[in-house]
Amino acid sequence: MEEPKIPEEKAARSLNFLEEIIEEDIRNGVNEGRVHTRFPPEPNGYLHIGHAKSICLNFGLARRYNGLTNLRFDDTNPVKEDVEYVDSIMADVRWLGFDWEDRLFYASDYFEQIYDYAMVLIRKEKAYVCDMTAEEMSETRGTPTRPGKESPFRTRSVEENIDLFNRMRQGEFPDGSRVLRAKIDMASPNMHMRDPVLYRILHAHHHRTGDQWCIYPMYDFAHGQSDSIEKITHSICTLEFEVHRPLYEWFIREIGIYAPRQIEFARLNVTYTVMSKRKLLELVQQGYVNGWDDPRMPTICGLRRRGFTPESIRNFAETIGVAKRDNVIDVSLLEFCIREDLNRKANRLMAVLDPVKVILDNYPDDQVEELESVSNPEDESKGKRKLPFSKTLFIERDDFMEDPPNKFFRLAPGREVRLKAAYIIRCESIVKDPATGKIEEIHCTYDPMTKSGMPDSNRKVKGTLHWVSEQQAVKVEVRLYDRLFVKENPDDLEEGKTYKDYLNPDSLKVVTALVEPEVRNAKVSEKYQFERIGYFTVDADSTPEKLVFNRVVPLKDSWGKGDKVTG
Ligand code: ATP
Ligand code: MG
Repeated sequence: MEEPKIPEEKAARSLNFLEEIIEEDIRNGVNEGRVHTRFPPEPNGYLHIGHAKSICLNFGLARRYNGLTNLRFDDTNPVKEDVEYVDSIMADVRWLGFDWEDRLFYASDYFEQIYDYAMVLIRKEKAYVCDMTAEEMSETRGTPTRPGKESPFRTRSVEENIDLFNRMRQGEFPDGSRVLRAKIDMASPNMHMRDPVLYRILHAHHHRTGDQWCIYPMYDFAHGQSDSIEKITHSICTLEFEVHRPLYEWFIREIGIYAPRQIEFARLNVTYTVMSKRKLLELVQQGYVNGWDDPRMPTICGLRRRGFTPESIRNFAETIGVAKRDNVIDVSLLEFCIREDLNRKANRLMAVLDPVKVILDNYPDDQVEELESVSNPEDESKGKRKLPFSKTLFIERDDFMEDPPNKFFRLAPGREVRLKAAYIIRCESIVKDPATGKIEEIHCTYDPMTKSGMPDSNRKVKGTLHWVSEQQAVKVEVRLYDRLFVKENPDDLEEGKTYKDYLNPDSLKVVTALVEPEVRNAKVSEKYQFERIGYFTVDADSTPEKLVFNRVVPLKDSWGKGDKVTG
């Protein structure tokens, strides 16, 4: 066999601790240098950004070391699981850019095998059927500092255990009447080692095995065994499983099967959101958001609908690295990653979200000029787009101030600004609604010598504004999404509050924007930069008659500085 090698070009950057472990194993010839990981979701909810981290890690490590990654559904709890979740999980992993090829597995495929493993333990007197109620079991478990009490059923004979376990499988007993437990150590300082439950009776329909089973293995008795059956080399999981590791290893050793290595890393937490599946389900079911793919959700489908790209999420996962201690990542890093990606990819459009009218008094009444602007300054191959220009335009209301401070470089009485890709204009007067005092028209003059190709085209003024021409502008719906929670850590509860008390009441604002006519070519899920405002994507609700855009992120990180639409 060829000697396994560590890819040289990749060895350059410093290794994270998982890579160090794996490289050490490769050097020592553990598993003949094989690297085989798995991503093991339970199909009881939609995947979120934390899962994305785990996906990138498992598939990324295998890719780096020429290994393989399995997708395995950990479907041992029929009550909460559903094919809807199975399908969405597969779609999300694929969308992130990873491929499990022909290695799609289900823990439920191994139920027969896992049942046999239980029999092995029973025969070795390492497992017994226990008739205690759930309450009795929890009462006799003890506490971390006080040993538990042994079950009176612990001394059942092998024959009796085999008989009872078989009859549990045959459906002779009602739910909750008996369990199969491992016989380990009721005095262990590790609570997980105090005769943990291996099987419970559950007369429930399973999304794959139907009504074939009425006993189901517990997660701990299925996960490591599934890893072993699939010859996983490195079973990477989150920190809360560290205390389960002795049990994981005990099962493998006592059953006498191939031993994968479990390694834990810190789960990803992100500010201004929650990551628990239970809470996300609650937000969906109680209508706080419009479904799992609501663009405010930290779910992968939510991020996708919001306009995040797979590249930006992979880059985020790579940038945050892997930690051994729990930590919280600032959501602005995720936002930075999507800005960086879309800056390169998104074509530019001019869109005015809060319009005020500008009239160029010295511009010919019915003239429409066709100006040009580059589609994407970061990518010449995108070419140019045409921009109609005329006497009546719209600019952003907050790009004008009647009585501006010195540092205000936008439009004000007597001041000049450049209209992007067009002329320099100067404000001459304003018209207000006499009743409300609201500015209705800004009257300006334009300098014909200042457009591209004219002698004064390079004349400098301090401010450049985006604009649209009134007649040609297209009305579109814009959904301005913001962070779902107002509190950095919504799980850090003040007295008498729940995480739902920290929901951001302004996480969605809907406005009608005026956009340059090029927008008519926008297709669902395409991304654009609205110049000076932010990145936007065409929402699935969009139709040719009524275009709908989602804000992915504002152009600059303005969180906490007041919700300004423009930058
Ligand atoms: P549950 O409480 O239902 O077990 P879970 O979030 O652990 O929720 P799983 O479907 O078991 O969901 O997770 C699949 C994989 O993703 C596991 O290996 C898990 O450790 C990992 N994972 C889950 N949440 C995170 C997170 N926030 N950061 C990193 N990895 C995560
Ligand atoms: Mg889990």
